[in-house]
Amino acid sequence: MKSVLFPGSFDPFTSGHANLVERALAIFDQVVIGIGYNIAKPGWIPVAERVSALREFYMAEPRVKVISYDRLTVDAAREQGTRFILRGVRSIQDYEYELRLADTNRQIEGIETVILFSDIRYGHLSSSMVRELHHFGRDIMQFLPQGLKYNI
Ligand code: ADP
Repeated sequence: MKSVLFPGSFDPFTSGHANLVERALAIFDQVVIGIGYNIAKPGWIPVAERVSALREFYMAEPRVKVISYDRLTVDAAREQGTRFILRGVRSIQDYEYELRLADTNRQIEGIETVILFSDIRYGHLSSSMVRELHHFGRDIMQFLPQGLKYNI
């Protein structure tokens, strides 16, 4: 079975992320969404809530698994039994960042990064933009995949 780890903060998980998962399922048998966290940087939505909301959202899709991890992404990938990482690129800025990450992960562990370019509908979407809109009182539901619900 060919599996890929899709690592990120997913704080929150947006329609752009969901689109990547959907497209990756056409390439891989299994997508493991890995919520990377750092105790020193708790972020916005508690990690346990990020995990449970996504598990519920993907309940009917057995080919999607949701985990959290607080170590190097390459180590989480090995632990999940894969040498593939999925990442998304929306812009030239993402490209520069992802290229450096991919080179490092291939050098230190031989992990291969698969990049999917953002869908035209979601290229402007980022978790940080969604957090900012929520902070200033705007409804963010339109930026999350339909059916994903956080208890926040
Ligand atoms: P990180 O904190 O590791 O950057 P994110 O949760 O922000 O994690 O994003 C995870 C991955 O999804 C990254 O590769 C990012 O470039 C990609 N991504 C984020 N938003 C989108 C989007 N709207 N379309 C495509 N890819 C995206």
